[in-house]
Amino acid sequence: MKAALFEKPHVLNVAQRPLRPLREGEVLLKVESCGVCGTDVHIVEGTSRSTPPVVLGHEFAGTIEDAGASHFTQGQKVAVDPNIACGTCFYCRRGLIHLCENLRALGVDVDGGMAEYCVVPASQIYILPDNMPAYTSAFVEPVSCAIHGIDRANIHIGDTVVILGGGTIGLIMLQLAKSAGAARVFVVEPLGHKRELALRIGADKVIDPKAADVHAMIFDLTGVGADVVIECAGKVQTAQSSLELVRRGGTVEFFGVCSIGETFPFEPNKIYSKELTIVGSYVNPHTFSRSIAVLASGKVRVDKFQLDRFPLDGVHEALTFQREGRTIKSIIEPQR
Ligand SMILES: [Zn+2]
Ligand SMILES: [Zn+2]
Repeated sequence: MKAALFEKPHVLNVAQRPLRPLREGEVLLKVESCGVCGTDVHIVEGTSRSTPPVVLGHEFAGTIEDAGASHFTQGQKVAVDPNIACGTCFYCRRGLIHLCENLRALGVDVDGGMAEYCVVPASQIYILPDNMPAYTSAFVEPVSCAIHGIDRANIHIGDTVVILGGGTIGLIMLQLAKSAGAARVFVVEPLGHKRELALRIGADKVIDPKAADVHAMIFDLTGVGADVVIECAGKVQTAQSSLELVRRGGTVEFFGVCSIGETFPFEPNKIYSKELTIVGSYVNPHTFSRSIAVLASGKVRVDKFQLDRFPLDGVHEALTFQREGRTIKSIIEPQR
C-alpha cells in the first residue's frame, strides 16, 4: 500500500509500505480522509516530537476493511482517536489519560492515516453516522481537542470571549464558545480570508492585529477586558498579549502550540492582583464521542471552511498549503 512516510526531519516520502497482519485487538481501516495539522508541519520540520520512521496523519477516518476479532464489522464508517494511553501509569489510573506517561499517538509514534490503509487498535475507533461526509469525519479529532479546551475555559452564559488566531482551531473554538453560551466572540486574525470566514460563521467582531491596536479595541468593546481569552495562534507574542486582554478575575487558556523552549517575561503580581486563572489544554481525553455528536448536530459547521483536498501524492503541497495559511484545512484522500 501507498503511504506518506516521515523518515527524518525534512524527509517525507510517499512510498510503498507492506501491510502487516493484524494482531489481537486490532482492525484494518481503509482510510477515506486525513486532515493535515500544524503538528504534521512541525514534525516534518523537526520541531515537534515524533518517532520516525513513521507514517504521518493523526486526524483520520475511514471504513473498516477487516474487523479482526473485534465487535466491529466490515464496512462500518469510523473515526480514529489517535492518542493511545497505557492504562496503567499514575495518570491513567487517576483518569488523566491524556497526561499518560507512556502516551503514544498514531501518526506521531505509530503508523498513522496518511496511507491507503492503517492498522488501528479497536479501542481507538468510534462509529460515525452513515450520512457524515468523509471531509467532516477528518475534523472529529481536532474538534475533540477543542471540546476539551472549551471544558477547561470556564465560559459562562453571557461571557465575552476573545480568540487569538482564526485558523482551523480558532474557527472551531468560535463555534463551540457560542454553543457554550458566550454572548460575544471576537476573533483576532491577520489573514483577511480567515477573518471573513470567522464573520460568516458567527464572530461578532474580527480584528486585524496588523491594522488595529487590539488591546485598545478589546477595551473599547468591553470596558474591562474579555471574560475569557483563548490563545489559538501558538505564538509567544499572542500568548503574552492574552494576559493583557483579559479582565480581572478572567481566564486565559493556552491552546495553541508554541515551540518548546520559547519564553516570555511576565509579572506575577499581575496574575495575583488581577486574580487570573491560567489554564492549558492538551489533546482530547474522553471527548471523542461528544465531538462526533456536535459535528453530526450541525452545532459545529466545517462545511463552510475552505478545504483543499489532495491525493496521497500531493502530500507535500498539502503541507505547504497548511503551513502558509493558504487553506483552512488540507485534507488527504488516500483512495483518490
Ligand atoms: Zn492535529
Ligand atoms: Zn498511562
